Amino acid sequence: MRAARFHGPKDLRIEEVPKPQVPEGQTLVAMERVGICGTDLEEYLIGPVIIPKMRMPMIIGHEYLGRVIEDPLGKLKPGTLVVPDGIVGCGNCYYCDRHEEGICKSYECIGLTCDGGMAEFMATDPTRWIEVPSHVSADVAVFAEPMSVAVRALNKVPTIPGTKVAVTGGGTVGLLIAQVARAFGAAQVVVYEPNPVRQAVARGLGFETLNPLIEKEWAHCDEFDSLLECSGVKGTTAKSLEKLRNAGTLVLVGFRPEEESFHLLNFVLSEKRIQGTAAHMWDVDVAAAIALLAGPAIDTKPLLTDVIALDEVVSKGFDRLISDKNAFKIVVDTTR
Ligand SMILES: [Zn+2]
Ligand SMILES: [Zn+2]
Repeated sequence: MRAARFHGPKDLRIEEVPKPQVPEGQTLVAMERVGICGTDLEEYLIGPVIIPKMRMPMIIGHEYLGRVIEDPLGKLKPGTLVVPDGIVGCGNCYYCDRHEEGICKSYECIGLTCDGGMAEFMATDPTRWIEVPSHVSADVAVFAEPMSVAVRALNKVPTIPGTKVAVTGGGTVGLLIAQVARAFGAAQVVVYEPNPVRQAVARGLGFETLNPLIEKEWAHCDEFDSLLECSGVKGTTAKSLEKLRNAGTLVLVGFRPEEESFHLLNFVLSEKRIQGTAAHMWDVDVAAAIALLAGPAIDTKPLLTDVIALDEVVSKGFDRLISDKNAFKIVVDTTR
């Protein structure tokens, strides 16, 4: 089969490789779409960061969508679109016992720590497939993984209905989070984004936008009940805390490996919270994400920049994401 394998920085090759070995209890699905994520881009540019060296060359792709070839459980028809689970815990620790495999200290993230879905086939656990309703197209369902990130991030906020929510960073995840916040009943959702093209997309989706780099615009709104930091820009933690009302919640979604400081006394006295969010659970976050994508509240169309063939993954995928700062999600059609 053909697969996109990471060999080292800026060395991603489309290669003919054997079909994956299928472990006991698993089955192959035919891959349909795979989104390219910021994490993939970072691996491509300066990796291996998360990718284990000993597994290279490794098939990338963690935002995947496949079709059932044959369901060993006899539930789904061949051809049904499914999102296979991507987070595999060790199965034998405090976190795995509590079904929190995403924070298991030795979990695997398929496509980031072991072979992923940017290929014609992938071995998957059929007990952990999430079925995509038949009216949802592959180009919409491929947003399941970033949507799960959005759902999980918002579920970390104690209350959304009737509250004021800010999102910093109007990229794919930021604008999915903004839409989910609105779908969850937020009274106001403001998107902070300096790029005018992204601002226009956010406004097209019905959001008020402000430029966080212009002091007057940053100061424009009163304090928020929650702020979801999706820009990944260095030094935003202290600044984001300032925009929160007392006892408000800052959720860090975009990440960076650096340390950051903030005023501890103000933080303690104001009883604000800083919350991390990362790995999503297939039966909780992914299922909720697909249910949202299947409904009318979420519009992914303006976030889908291009759908490209597997052979074009470098030229029209990674190279474009490097040069085009206005690009949102680029999706690989693994069937062509
Ligand atoms: Zn990702
Ligand atoms: Zn574990």
